[in-house]
This record gives sequence, structure tokens and C-alpha cells, in this order.
Amino acid sequence: MTDFSEIRNACMQCTNCPLHETRTNVVFGVGNPDAKILFVGEAPGENEDLQGEPFVGRGGQLLDLYMNGIGLDRKSNIYITNILRCRPPQNRDPKPEEQQACLPFLRQMVKEMQPKIIVCVGRIAAQVIISKDFKVSKEHGVFYERGGMLLMGTFHPAALLRDPRRKGDCFEDFLKLQDKIKALGIEI
Ligand code: URA
Repeated sequence: MTDFSEIRNACMQCTNCPLHETRTNVVFGVGNPDAKILFVGEAPGENEDLQGEPFVGRGGQLLDLYMNGIGLDRKSNIYITNILRCRPPQNRDPKPEEQQACLPFLRQMVKEMQPKIIVCVGRIAAQVIISKDFKVSKEHGVFYERGGMLLMGTFHPAALLRDPRRKGDCFEDFLKLQDKIKALGIEI
């Protein structure tokens, strides 16, 4: 059984970057810590900050729709978190020093959880986790093997709300994810 209580406690009390001064809630993550699939977004937005849960706004509903479409559910067989656990003011991009301050939590989480697949939701997460030059338009849906894990980047739901023409491409990424889950024999 994966136990996040130690990292969670550290995260809840974290003052390692100035974002702790403006947060309402630390958004640690949600889902099944024993899941083999980890989704990582960018940072909490306004709704997430207020509710303390990742991806609960309109974008989150779209993400849930795609996940549910391939049999994934944040209540049972995946885990979702973000690169940053506290909301950047006005939802600006995370600063490099905020990322560096928060990344140890993600590293520890991955170590405890040992996911088989990490899905990077959006450019920022993919650039931090896969490669600093990651281009979502070119590399979405591509699986990269690293340290016994598969890493894949896809569109951020907020980007899909702005440009719905990419929704089909995004769902194709999820269908590829479904194929990978089957090929790896991951029970969901
Ligand atoms: N955008 C993200 O990247 N993460 C959230 O939790 C909410 C919006």
C-alpha cells in the first residue's frame, strides 16, 4: 500500500516558496495512491485553490470526460497532481524557482507510487517532466521510456477550451493511452 501521509504532511506545511503566502489551500493531489497511472498538470487555478483538489473547474470536467471515456476515474484507478501545489497569482506560469521548490514533492510521490505511466497534462508539465523543449503540437501522444516508466504529454484542457479544434487530437492521445494500459497489462 502506498502511503503519502508523510509527503502530504510536509506539503501541507510547506513554506519553501512565496506562493504559500497567497494560497487558500495546498492542492496535494487526489486519486488512488496505488494506481499505476499518474496525471500531472501545471498548477492549481482559482477553483482548485478554493476546493483543495486538482482539476475541478471547467477544464477539469473536460479532463474527467476523456479519462472516463477510456475507463479511468479519479475516484478509483489513477492519481492526479500538479507540478506546483499552490496557486500562482492570476494563474500566471510557474516560475523556475517555484518549480524547483515544489518538485521534490513530485519526485518523492513518484518514488512511493512507482507509476508505470505518467501523463503530462499540458506544455508546462511536459517540459518539466519529459524535456525542456517539449512541443505539445508535435509530440502529444508520443510515449517516452524513462527509468522503467512511460511518459506521455497531451493538451491542457484549458487550451482545448480556447481551441476546441484540438479536442479530437487529445482524445486520440487518450485512446493511445488506453492501448498502452492494455499492452502493459495494467489492471484498471
Ligand atoms: N490547471 C492545472 O494545470 N491544474 C489544475 O489542477 C487546474 C488547472
